[in-house]
Amino acid sequence: MSQQQKDVYLVIGGSGFVGRHIVDQLIARGDIVSVFDIVQRHHDVPFYSGDITDEQQVLNAIRKSGTTCIIHTASPPHGAKDPSIYHKVNVDGTRAVIDAAVSAGVTKLVYTSSAGVVFDGDDVINLDERAPYPEKPFDAYNDSKAKGEALILEANGKGGLLTVALRPAGIFGPGDRQMMVGLFQAYQRGQTHFQVGDNNNLFDYTYVGNLAQAHLLAADKLVPPPTTASDAASIKTDSSEATLVNPPIDPATHASLNRALPPISATTGFRRVPTCEARPLGPYVTPPPNASAMEAAYNAPHDPHAPKHPILRSRFDQFADNALALAPSNPLQVAGQVFFITNGEPVYFWDFMRYIWLALDPPTEEGKKRAQKGTWVIPRTFGMVLGFLAECWAGLIGKEAGFTRYRVGYSCATRYHNIEKARRVLGYEPEVGLEEGVKKMVEWFKAENGLS
Ligand code: NAD
Repeated sequence: MSQQQKDVYLVIGGSGFVGRHIVDQLIARGDIVSVFDIVQRHHDVPFYSGDITDEQQVLNAIRKSGTTCIIHTASPPHGAKDPSIYHKVNVDGTRAVIDAAVSAGVTKLVYTSSAGVVFDGDDVINLDERAPYPEKPFDAYNDSKAKGEALILEANGKGGLLTVALRPAGIFGPGDRQMMVGLFQAYQRGQTHFQVGDNNNLFDYTYVGNLAQAHLLAADKLVPPPTTASDAASIKTDSSEATLVNPPIDPATHASLNRALPPISATTGFRRVPTCEARPLGPYVTPPPNASAMEAAYNAPHDPHAPKHPILRSRFDQFADNALALAPSNPLQVAGQVFFITNGEPVYFWDFMRYIWLALDPPTEEGKKRAQKGTWVIPRTFGMVLGFLAECWAGLIGKEAGFTRYRVGYSCATRYHNIEKARRVLGYEPEVGLEEGVKKMVEWFKAENGLS
């Protein structure tokens, strides 16, 4: 296909939450798009019913629709009773998608992976894409996402196919089919005043529209990398230590890497990672004693006249010269790469939940009273004991436990990622901030469920 021609898209999993937002954005910009899924929820674009574990079904859909670019978002949801489904769909199914794409001469494949592929239960602090997959995966779902992602990356260049994987974290927004269900249940049961852990753990979330935008950017920028011999990465062995050398970076790109990125202005107006002394309060029900000082420090106005220093890249920085030279593949290209995609505004775990619960509150006296109740903090260790007892009890009565050690660990972990690679290489900028995104999601949820 020539560079001038527009791609024809097939969104696999296009009836799902993320897939549908991608379809909407493709329709909005006038692209030709079809959906492949096991269920049909919309009727405005051509639909191919099928399962990705059946290569022939995928191939038929690609051929009939004339697809040149596949966006593969399909996966069983987290929390399936039979974990073997994850390997079947996310690994075997993804392999079938790749094989069908190569057979049909598809040129682009964008895969929705997950930030969970690097999570093993330990804190994840501003992690970038150089981190390896953990030796011991957190669970079957994340393991299958990592294995599916690895297949996608290996397939880059196979039969002319270019591939890229995006790793979102905690997706939310209108159309969500996972997060709101549990949070609304907790809200209805009056459990919103419990907090497990000290709420000092930062967490990443991603507004679904921002993520859909990232998929379109990745698809648009998925072009063949330079192939001349001098450009190709080579191995330098003239010193005692063998080093991988990536293609020389042209001066303009090099200069741009040393220019600070503009702030992410989605919610705060400027990019800030909260600290224990400067943090947004969130919808605190019981403000801590130093609340106003923390908030004032966090909200101290950004001074546009302050001198703009060039960024200082440490040797640990993924775009420092030595890091670029040592990278196993060129991180400045899109093909064959992974990108973390988040809102770029990590937030304290329970603060995000409370934004949602607060938005659910009706603007009545009763709603106001609920918001004024105090918080009951359950320390993490005690939470683990309670989780263990709840699991034992659920096992005895043959039911699924609602409060588990997994959930305690999840809600107490720090998990936020560095999105500079996506911003520099894909040109990704989160447009909808957390607060605005939560409002949009809750408005949608209320309308959908007839709540006032
Ligand atoms: P979703 O369940 O809303 O959508 C997934 C879609 O895939 C559904 O329409 C489903 O019918 C379809 N599907 C599942 N199995 C299939 C199969 N065998 N063949 C064809 N279609 C199949 O999920 P989502 O929240 O939109 O997630 C999209 C992607 O994002 C997934 O790959 C998921 O792993 C990833 N992800 C999600 C989150 C999150 O917070 N929701 C976080 C990180 C990564």
